[in-house]
Amino acid sequence: MRFSAAVLSACLSLAFMGGIQATWAQDNASAQTTAPTAQATEYEASWQSLHMGTLVTAKVFGQTPDEVKRLGAIVESEIVRFDDMMSVHKETALNEVNRRAGEWVEVTPEIAEMTREALEVADLTDSAFEPTIGPIVNLWKIGFGGHSVPSDAAIAEALKHVNHRTVTLKEEDGRHFLRIERGQNIDMGAIAKGYIGQKLADRLKKEGAKHALLDLGGNVVAVGEKYENQPWRVGLQRPDQTRGAYFAVVSANDESVITSGAYERNFEKDGKKYGHILSAKTGRPVATDLSSVTILDKNGARADALCTALFGMGVSAAERFLEAHPDVHAVLLSSDMKTALVSDAIKDRVRVTDPEIVVKIIKH
Ligand code: ADP
Ligand code: MG
Repeated sequence: MRFSAAVLSACLSLAFMGGIQATWAQDNASAQTTAPTAQATEYEASWQSLHMGTLVTAKVFGQTPDEVKRLGAIVESEIVRFDDMMSVHKETALNEVNRRAGEWVEVTPEIAEMTREALEVADLTDSAFEPTIGPIVNLWKIGFGGHSVPSDAAIAEALKHVNHRTVTLKEEDGRHFLRIERGQNIDMGAIAKGYIGQKLADRLKKEGAKHALLDLGGNVVAVGEKYENQPWRVGLQRPDQTRGAYFAVVSANDESVITSGAYERNFEKDGKKYGHILSAKTGRPVATDLSSVTILDKNGARADALCTALFGMGVSAAERFLEAHPDVHAVLLSSDMKTALVSDAIKDRVRVTDPEIVVKIIKH
């Protein structure tokens, strides 16, 4: 997660059956609201900010202006709280773990929980998702300025410190501690947005929100349904086109829809393209024949980590993984963008809209 934390805008608007009728600034407390005129009237608060190195947007709905203001304020404070806790550019508890590698460091319950989820996915994927990839990420610097192709010797040296099995967690009297070995560096960039989105969704539901839509830089969380008996629809980005050009649409209800792709951060040198997902085995950007992987899961952290893992595996290993794990639901897009592979369990909820793309169902 690399970012500056500037709030772009936050506004509260009155929506009727999804159509916005009036908008006013959140800090203008004296703004007049129109009373609901029909039972189906709902109020909507939209939030937009730059956090976690990405654009965060949220739409929350409520029955009264006060309710929607309260829910909107929760989104705002939670996003800021997580940014302060997990940013790599600030003095955060997560950075402290790397700074004090070799020691037990007290962390928040959220960092402990996210780390536990990360270690689980690392085990499940045989380190295709590897949270201790930090020394390799820092060597290549892909996507955050100053990228270069490192020497073989530097890669071999960095690889010595990549091993999630030496990451340890403990709990004492309700306090959480995390320790990595000296020389290690944990990088939660491939799981944190999914985790935070999930925590936000859980909190909103606990606070009474019936439905909301959160988007943390393309990591979407559908809270509840859009309307009664109508799921949220989430477009899957075509990796070779500008944002907003979709190759498929998926229906989602109370789940995360998370995508990893080759399109967002990479660099080219001597005619070779290097992407920002790296292999814990070779210490180099993964050579994949996938252009994007989308995972649908009730657990956003798992979805985020798994889509990074499957992306690195490539078509045939990802397909074998999905056949062996029927609880993992994915849409894979081949790098030539001619084939979409869709898990059997979600085939009725995925509509591939691009007529050029052939759909193949992955049976379990
Ligand atoms: P994005 O954050 O662009 O949506 P991902 O969720 O796939 O994409 O996360 C990619 C980030 O995760 C990289 O920028 C890097 O910090 C880190 N990373 C790269 N390779 C791996 C890997 N094999 N396992 C875990 N994290 C990785
Ligand atoms: Mg990810």
